[in-house]
Amino acid sequence: MVAKLFLKSLLMWGKLFFTSFRCETCSKEEAKYRCPRCMKYSCSLLCVKKHKLALSCNGVRDKTAFVSVNEFTDLNLLSDYRFLEDVGRTADAAARHCFFKCLYFFQLYCLRNKARGCNIELKTLPVGFTKRRENSTTFNSMENKFYWHLKLIFPHCHAEYTLKGVPDDKILADILKPYIDPVESDPVVCQRLKIYTTSPQSDVRILMKIENRNRNSVRYNELDASRSLRDNLKGKVIIEYPTLFVVLKTLKNDMVVLGQGEHVFIFCYVILGYLSYLNNS
Ligand SMILES: [Zn+2]
Ligand SMILES: [Zn+2]
Repeated sequence: MVAKLFLKSLLMWGKLFFTSFRCETCSKEEAKYRCPRCMKYSCSLLCVKKHKLALSCNGVRDKTAFVSVNEFTDLNLLSDYRFLEDVGRTADAAARHCFFKCLYFFQLYCLRNKARGCNIELKTLPVGFTKRRENSTTFNSMENKFYWHLKLIFPHCHAEYTLKGVPDDKILADILKPYIDPVESDPVVCQRLKIYTTSPQSDVRILMKIENRNRNSVRYNELDASRSLRDNLKGKVIIEYPTLFVVLKTLKNDMVVLGQGEHVFIFCYVILGYLSYLNNS
């Protein structure tokens, strides 16, 4: 309110002040404007344009220009006040940005730490990676559980689904129900994943890629559908979020799958076919 009154009186004062000056461009009319940069008086937009052209003036006030105490007017005071306000705003925005950045890294650190507490080695990617951007995993301290971002890949149908906020105590079979259960699955999904819904549930295998292995020796762990996500992720390395491959053991292709123990099962799945599909798409 005080600032408004101050501005109003300043404008009135400015009007009175300008009427006593002639336009410095045409020297005919009374001045209405004063250039914030070169302080020339003008009567109209035309004269403002002319003075800019003649003096190569951009008309933008030099906020940091030196003004001697003798020439220091109320306008300079207002200008300095606004300049300081701008500086304050910029500094504030920078501090806020820094704060959120610190908060972001602290949250990531906590997430990895909590995962370590559950015997899961969670690795996060640098900012800019798609998986980093996608990952919506959170940890609820009150409930002491993870709500995972989860990707389900059905290689036989070239289909993949992203799930968000999957509680870590949910049984794997229940997570898959809306996709492959002949009764409980969504009709549209059921149609797309027909090969799964029509197969005996005992043929379904859930695999997770073993991270930190050589590119040419890709292996998969088989997960236990009757156990929770948390139990299944124990002792595993996860990059950002779990990606589960749902495969049928009856459909064969060349793929070596490592069991949960040290046994090696040779299940031949169509994962290679899916990977080549990914490459082609
Ligand atoms: Zn003029
Ligand atoms: Zn000017």
